[in-house]
Amino acid sequence: MAGTKKIVVLGGGYAGISAVLALQKRLGRGEAEIILVNKHDYHYFTTWLHKPAAGTDSADRPKVDIRDIIDPRKVSFRKRDIRRIDTAARTVETDEGDIPYDVLIVALGGEPETFGIPGLAEHAFFIRSLNSARIIREHIERRFAEFRSDESRTELLTFVVGGAGLTGIEFAGELVNRIPELCREHGVDPALVNIYVVEAAPTALPGFDAGLVEHAMEHLKRKGVVFQLGTPVKKCTSEGVEIGEGEFIRAGTVIWAGGIRGNRVLEASGFGTTRGRVAVNAYLQAPGFGDVFVIGDSSMVMNDQGRPWPPSAQIAIQQGEAAARNAIALLRGREMTPFRYVHRGTVASLGRGEAIGSVGRCKVKGLAAAILKTVIDARYLYRIGGVRLVLRKTAFFPHQSR
Ligand code: NAD
Repeated sequence: MAGTKKIVVLGGGYAGISAVLALQKRLGRGEAEIILVNKHDYHYFTTWLHKPAAGTDSADRPKVDIRDIIDPRKVSFRKRDIRRIDTAARTVETDEGDIPYDVLIVALGGEPETFGIPGLAEHAFFIRSLNSARIIREHIERRFAEFRSDESRTELLTFVVGGAGLTGIEFAGELVNRIPELCREHGVDPALVNIYVVEAAPTALPGFDAGLVEHAMEHLKRKGVVFQLGTPVKKCTSEGVEIGEGEFIRAGTVIWAGGIRGNRVLEASGFGTTRGRVAVNAYLQAPGFGDVFVIGDSSMVMNDQGRPWPPSAQIAIQQGEAAARNAIALLRGREMTPFRYVHRGTVASLGRGEAIGSVGRCKVKGLAAAILKTVIDARYLYRIGGVRLVLRKTAFFPHQSR
């Protein structure tokens, strides 16, 4: 395919996969070469990771082989670790050599943001990948086993979740369902287990509807969660966390869910960033780089109030389609279309059969919201892998929950 233009997509998350699917659908035969580069040969649903992390689901469920999603006749897949983008040479530097591009779509996702809080990087866990979810699950199980060999160390049964955003709340919702099971398995009195959710803002789920937040908090409190609101995490050590005005919680497990930043590859490549995110133009291009689109968690798109939309799977998927359309327009010398995000709402799961959600003006909670969440997930599965993937990945029955 010498001479054929190359559209290179970096990252196989929600944004990258959405872009590749749109490119393979819209590009004519031989019109351009589509290359997808990703660290792993699988795509995974980051919004499901809180379940395998808590141990209420298997680490395999959020995972799909990239080759089951893409059309290999139209897209070539390279499993590589991306190091840097050389915008002058128009190449992507990887662990196995350079990949040239004519148009680049960067969809490298986000990374946990620790805000420089001492000790978090060393001692806290982050729900960021399938592997980190496996590590967290094993760590929690090990803490129970360790407690059984020295029952004076009750701090081993204390869990601290830093940050009551969607990630922290969804994880806490799964953890409260997993604890009774672990207590039974290890012969531990459930009264000895403590779960703290520590949030710097005066409320959990800042920005969410106040009534729904109350419902979520009441549900989690009933299941044993203690909220410490208006209380920032100040420091993390191997013994626990320092919070608020010097209070220390001794804990065997600290999960950090205090927010995310853009991928460091963008800074390393000379793009202007704010907390690792590139403020893209209306067409999703990086300012000053007409041949580079940045989408997903590493991009920043403003809402009508001039504030950045929070990163989410929903915006990433829409950006993927829009960037693909604009990349094709660029190649064909046609006019590009400004990106406009349609926010359809947010649903947060709170464990099996419980959730809260706001969709348009409609507020839902309890089982109805949990069903809505399953429908949203199924819609995504259908989009990327048809009915087969929906049937393979959806937990319709309780015995399927692991
Ligand atoms: P977030 O930024 O939404 O929430 C982080 C929370 O941590 C905030 O409430 C913040 O006040 C708190 N925090 C920050 N520093 C703190 C400190 N020092 N001590 C205590 N609390 C502190 O991050 P997230 O929950 O990881 O979510 C990341 C993005 O992913 C968000 O944009 C979110 O909308 C999206 N997401 C969506 C879903 C869903 O749609 N169900 C699920 C998970 C994540």
